Amino acid sequence: MLWFINIAYIAASILFIFGIKMLGNATTARRGNLLSSLGMLLAVVVTLLNKGILHYGLILAGIVIGAAIGAIAAKRVQMTGMPELVALFNGFGGLASLLVGWAEFARAEKIGWVYDYPLFTAAVIVLTVLIGGVTFTGSLVAYLKLSGKVSGSPTILPQHNLINAGILLVLVVLGAILCMNMGGWLGVGLFALIMILALGLGVLGVIPIGGGDMPVVISFLNSCSGLAAAAAGFVIFNNVLIVAGCLVGASGLILTVIMCKAMNRTLGNVFFSGFGGSTTKTGAATEGEMKASSVEDAYYVLEAAKSVVVVPGYGMAVAQAQHAVKELGSILEDNGAEVRYAIHPVAGRMPGHMNVLLAEADVPYEQLCEMDAVNPLMPTVDVAIVIGANDVVNPAASEDESSPIYGMPIINVYEAKTVYALKRGQGAGFSGLVNTLFFRENCRMLYGDAKSTVSALVSQFED
Ligand code: NDP
Repeated sequence: MLWFINIAYIAASILFIFGIKMLGNATTARRGNLLSSLGMLLAVVVTLLNKGILHYGLILAGIVIGAAIGAIAAKRVQMTGMPELVALFNGFGGLASLLVGWAEFARAEKIGWVYDYPLFTAAVIVLTVLIGGVTFTGSLVAYLKLSGKVSGSPTILPQHNLINAGILLVLVVLGAILCMNMGGWLGVGLFALIMILALGLGVLGVIPIGGGDMPVVISFLNSCSGLAAAAAGFVIFNNVLIVAGCLVGASGLILTVIMCKAMNRTLGNVFFSGFGGSTTKTGAATEGEMKASSVEDAYYVLEAAKSVVVVPGYGMAVAQAQHAVKELGSILEDNGAEVRYAIHPVAGRMPGHMNVLLAEADVPYEQLCEMDAVNPLMPTVDVAIVIGANDVVNPAASEDESSPIYGMPIINVYEAKTVYALKRGQGAGFSGLVNTLFFRENCRMLYGDAKSTVSALVSQFED
């Protein structure tokens, strides 16, 4: 049976790896997702064949309750609430790993095995609890910040970095002592203390990080949930858990690096500088005024355009305008324009937010352009349509050294011949900063809900 289980685990791992590879392209992403799901199903079914399973009833109850909660949550969540849901999922992944480590420790403690634990097993139990605990509470704080249930601003205690470093040091020392001696009341006490400190470190680690840096935090916690799962895999000697955990850990880390680059920040800077909160700072004073335009005027300019770049942002998600945007894009193409969709890596509220929405609306993958690819073309673009994007097109990031977002790469729409910015009013973006783009000579505002405005533009072309 053991060899059969391990061969099935290898098959599941192969399905995960091919699934992830296929997620890299919109045309194969759906199949990739299905393939990975099949791998997971195979892994779960085969794990249930394990003779060591004590209680099928409890597992069944867990599956039914968990599936019901997951299905209801996924059905109810608005597209704009996805980032919070992802943060919660990461957190529960961490909690699950922590519980595995705790259960294994409790089981071994009860039958006296802890005294015979090899150093490696003891160390991975400690790591599982440590990383799992930090991921769980850190993700809960990220969830609360993203959902607006607590302020997105950094909360910084006196000597905050020192406190966090101190807790981490204590955790390492306690972990090392526990690894040497896991038995008796000392072992139980140390274990409980490590768990509490890890949970506390998760909270203290994420509260000083401002909402603006949440893209990095979410990716990092995602990576941590994978590492915790991999450590849990070593605890219970489950190969597929180790492989799946490492895949999540590695891909999360790559995403973290991408997010850091997109915001021109280093990981250390994000975690230790307390930057990234909503702010009232506006950088240098802005000159000029925001010039409103009408849908009719915009239609005439778009009708004559030969090259159009659409830049979606969080407002497109709020308005659920993606289908109308796709319709407008197709009409412009039929009218002879070259249409591209420029995607900033931190547009929206979660990594890949805009890609998901545009894929849902069947926007051809070839028309999606990354920031670095589209920026050199910008001076040749006739019209840039900014749909509910704000921070990711704010020229202050490249021009105003006093701006808090100075240095963050942006999509240079201000270099296009004409810019239409679609937003409801004069609201700021996530960073709370004034956007100097809207005051530029070549920028016109189209006020209103993005979906209504885009639909009105479509109607103009159809009339
Ligand atoms: P922003 O949050 O900067 O701006 C969104 C704009 O959309 C607002 O100015 C708002 O203006 C407008 N808007 C809101 N609702 C509508 C609507 N119904 N119709 C039309 N417009 C609307 O979005 P960006 O995508 O440009 O930038 C993302 C920001 O979020 C960055 O600062 C990033 O760091 C941060 N972030 C990103 C995460 C990620 O993983 N991608 C995670 C967490 C934060 P108005 O109110 O006037 O309509």
